[in-house]
Amino acid sequence: MKELVVVSGKGGTGKTSITAAFATIAKGAVIADCDVDAPDIPLILEPSIRSREDFSGGKKAKIIPENCTACGICQSICRFDAISIDKSNGKYRVDPTLCDSCGVCVWNCPENAIEFNPVINGELFVSETRVGYMVHAHLGIAEENSGKLVTLIREKAKKIAKENGKELVIIDGPPGIGCPVIASMSNATLALAVTEPTTSGEFDLVRIIELTKNMSVPAVVVINKWDINKEVTENIEKTLKKLNVPLIGKIPYDRAFTEAQIHKKSIIEFAESTTTKTIKNLWKIVREKIEIEN
Ligand code: SF4
Ligand code: SF4
Repeated sequence: MKELVVVSGKGGTGKTSITAAFATIAKGAVIADCDVDAPDIPLILEPSIRSREDFSGGKKAKIIPENCTACGICQSICRFDAISIDKSNGKYRVDPTLCDSCGVCVWNCPENAIEFNPVINGELFVSETRVGYMVHAHLGIAEENSGKLVTLIREKAKKIAKENGKELVIIDGPPGIGCPVIASMSNATLALAVTEPTTSGEFDLVRIIELTKNMSVPAVVVINKWDINKEVTENIEKTLKKLNVPLIGKIPYDRAFTEAQIHKKSIIEFAESTTTKTIKNLWKIVREKIEIEN
């Protein structure tokens, strides 16, 4: 099983549009939407949900008012300021958005008045799209532990690929370099880093490349919208040479990406152009790198 993860050190580089384009060309690869905080690829590929399951990212503390004697111990030891007095009944209560699930209050309450149960943070979906199966998720607002959810999405996508005789999973990775990105890249066959020619784009690209090196994941780079700032594009090319990371292509700025998204299509499905030819060539290079047939 091969896993291609499309990442970007920052948001807004066009990572998801390129992932959708690759998924369209690849025909039948399983798509794993690991950008769980801002899942955009379903907006393009319009998945039909076939199954869903609850996702629990961990436990949260909850005080049972009837058992609480208002001694205040829990409030004094909670390092996350998640516990406060409930003025309506004089008992203490936990703010679940602040609770970090450490469990310290639970083990120190003299009255055993604090429950510590798994909470549902989101939902995991298996869907069918016009280009193949997709595993995606919905994470509740302000919910955390998206790294665990990303791992679950990848596992599920690999399982579906195996069951359906597919050799490739294409992962739309989260932006940045945090825990969810690490979860989306670990042991991947290849990381494709999408960047743009801005100062922050270059800075974040270097950070994501360092991360791929630390994780021993082979990486290649695409510069999207390369012609909006040719000077920075040149700088990025020099930087990549120093880092010894292949630049496999440059995609020009093209409003067709936005137009295609408005029409709920990948750019490949939208209209034939020099940009789509460039992307098809990129796919050939990626396919060779990960050694798959189609
Ligand atoms: S430690 Fe237990 S009894 Fe004391 S305030 Fe907290 S919940 Fe109530
Ligand atoms: S579990 Fe930890 S973070 Fe949550 S309320 Fe208790 S002490 Fe605070």
